[in-house]
Amino acid sequence: MIVAAGSGQRLAAGMPKALVALHGRPLLAWALDAFAGHPDIDSVVVVAPPDAVATVEDCAGGRAAVVAGGPSRQASVELGLAALGPGVGLVLVHDAARPLLPAWVISAVVAALRAGEQAVIPVLPVADTIKRVDGTGQVTATLDRTELRAVQTPQGFARAALVAAHRTARERSLTEVTDDAGLLEALGVPVRTVPGAELCFKITTPYDLRLAHSAARELDAMTQAGGPT
Ligand code: C5P
Repeated sequence: MIVAAGSGQRLAAGMPKALVALHGRPLLAWALDAFAGHPDIDSVVVVAPPDAVATVEDCAGGRAAVVAGGPSRQASVELGLAALGPGVGLVLVHDAARPLLPAWVISAVVAALRAGEQAVIPVLPVADTIKRVDGTGQVTATLDRTELRAVQTPQGFARAALVAAHRTARERSLTEVTDDAGLLEALGVPVRTVPGAELCFKITTPYDLRLAHSAARELDAMTQAGGPT
């Protein structure tokens, strides 16, 4: 499932983030290529901005089912879950805002799920020192960096566990959850990590988009030269 229903306000591109051009193709098309072309992926659902479903369907070109999203990421994931086919047992949830997704990350998440994990997340070590700061700007703690990880998508789940976690969150009136794995963690489900990819960074600001443009240009050049992606 690719969640792409965000408005992209912080990117300020005047259109939904998933439709912003990245080196000649909409952002969404990059993640869609990664999933639709992966041997471990049987079907793809894209959760689209409600007023851009037809445009997203054009972009998907028949490679994915497209459903309208909701007002929050959490609502969009639930709408995507409701659209999964009956035979789907394992689901990967990916942010369209992370367009540069190497195939090996998908493989690693799927392999861990197939080995019996209920929840799997790709993570990276944290390069910066992270401090806790109070509302006045005063540092209150310095966290031990060796224990910290930055979390990416796609996050992988046993479908039943993810559906149950979202239902519980709604019943508890949690409505702005941005981390699916955190929901399962809160219910006591073990969450397993696999290595993430630096390339799979999230596009939030115009600067992120500029970085992604250069990376995408290099990737396309490598692909045309027959090199690794
Ligand atoms: O806003 P942010 O970049 O954190 O959103 C993460 C992902 O969730 C994006 O791919 C965005 O399209 C998606 N999203 C969604 N529905 C919303 C808000 C965000 O599908 N209402």
